[in-house]
Amino acid sequence: MNPGEGVEDPRLEQLVDGIVRLAAGELNARIEPSEQGDAIDAVITGVNLLAEELGHIYADLEERVAVRTATLRRTQVELERMAKTDALTGLANRIMLNERIHDAIRTGTDNGHAPAVLILDLDSFKAINDTLGHSAGDAVLVEVSCRLRSVVQASDTVARLGGDEFAVLITGASDDEVMLIAHRSWEALQEGVEIGAETVWATGSIGICLHDPGQSAEELVRDADIAMYQAKAQGRNRVQLFHPDMLNVVQERSRITGELRMAASSGQLALHYQPVIELASGKVTGIEALLRWHHPVRGTIMPDSFIGLAEETGLILELGRWVLNEGIAQLGRWKQEAPQLTEFRLHINLSAAELLRSDLLADVNETLTKNDIEPARLVLEITESVLMSRRTGEQQVLEKLRALGVGLHIDDFGTGYSSISYLRALPADTVKVDRSLIKNLETDPRQQKFVSAILQLISAAELEAIVEGIETAEQAARLQAMGCLYGQGYYFGRPAPAAAILDRIRGSEPRL
Ligand code: C2E
Ligand code: CA
Ligand code: CA
Repeated sequence: MNPGEGVEDPRLEQLVDGIVRLAAGELNARIEPSEQGDAIDAVITGVNLLAEELGHIYADLEERVAVRTATLRRTQVELERMAKTDALTGLANRIMLNERIHDAIRTGTDNGHAPAVLILDLDSFKAINDTLGHSAGDAVLVEVSCRLRSVVQASDTVARLGGDEFAVLITGASDDEVMLIAHRSWEALQEGVEIGAETVWATGSIGICLHDPGQSAEELVRDADIAMYQAKAQGRNRVQLFHPDMLNVVQERSRITGELRMAASSGQLALHYQPVIELASGKVTGIEALLRWHHPVRGTIMPDSFIGLAEETGLILELGRWVLNEGIAQLGRWKQEAPQLTEFRLHINLSAAELLRSDLLADVNETLTKNDIEPARLVLEITESVLMSRRTGEQQVLEKLRALGVGLHIDDFGTGYSSISYLRALPADTVKVDRSLIKNLETDPRQQKFVSAILQLISAAELEAIVEGIETAEQAARLQAMGCLYGQGYYFGRPAPAAAILDRIRGSEPRL
């Protein structure tokens, strides 16, 4: 018998044990070789070497996994940051603001003070974008964000909610301190912003709401928003603190919006007509269509009370369609009734939004054709500020309307930007001078000089002038003496239903 034969070598057991430990992931396990240096020891050494190698491979793998995990984590953090910040200004976005507001409400009072939300909406950002371009607009937004950040504490959250709307979450400040921050924010925007060689003003309307116990995060933002709208309604560029009464106003507005939506289809809309007169002869050269809403409960509602709301809600497009159709159809009816009396042009008021309505041109064209009216018999009155904007979409529509032969009048001249240098470049042939300019015409010599200068400028730009709001014979006489050819106003006739118009034209005779 050879030595060892029949008796198991204890090293084999050690070897099996070692391999089991290694297989279980214990890569540090090593098997002690004996001094015999035989084949078993060779296997033991081989296993140890493999274990060593495995250890290296494993460590390498672990390191690579760690690096990848760290990269993933960083990307995730960056993605989260991007998802919660505004790319242009680096401010928080709506998502982050909402999170912070929720947190602030959950935490409760900080320093004994409830959180507050401030909402800021720039007053004339659209005009800046339209006239100076989008990169100028972006620069203004970035500047506004810097100014806002400079007036709040680092612990407050300044956010851009989109477009030209910003918000600030203020925590740990007393009511007085919140108001102070709001006024500082307002003040920070009073200084012009330099854009290249131009200076623009990016003033804003600010609404604030102090958190009330029981108020949700959404309600807090909504109420700050309502206060901001109130600030706008009161003339913009101001600060307004939320008061619960404001909710009623909002509910009222949404009720009116609902009713207005139904007004056209339920026959509650009507047009009244007011003549435009040639001052020298008293002849009616135009008839302006003015919208009336005959409300079943509230009686007749004047356009100043609902056109603004219709513009904000987009309902103006539907109202505008109705006015265009009804006005031109009425002109058709007058024409059939008394062709010899209907030499006048029909004036229709257009809101800015209607110029961007894609089917405006086709609608004008079709309605004219359907009623057998030549395009030259229609005049569209558009407010000064719309014509001033250099938006290509609007300009193209205006050019096409003009090419069609439709007259374009600048309405409410003297109330907006009054950039007389633009007058000549405008695609319009007539300017309607706003009635506010002739208010004290009889008594105020400076006003007389001013109106006279305006009329001369209009004439120098080779445009006609119609002066609106003439209420007395004296005003009419003075204007005529200043060289004004056309006028409109209560003195010549108040807006009246269609049925009264032909009689008025029949009876019209020179007054001067
Ligand atoms: P507007 O285009 O400047 O129309 C002239 C307004 O002045 C009319 O008010 C008219 O009734 C009033 N007015 C006329 N003569 C005199 C006067 O001698 N003295 C005084 N104090 N006022 C006079 P109305 O009908 O209340 O319309 C207000 C505004 O509503 C219009 O101002 C126009 O901007 C808008 N609007 C009216 N109808 C429409 C419409 O169909 N579409 C659009 N988009 N806007 C309309
Ligand atoms: Ca008008
Ligand atoms: Ca006007």
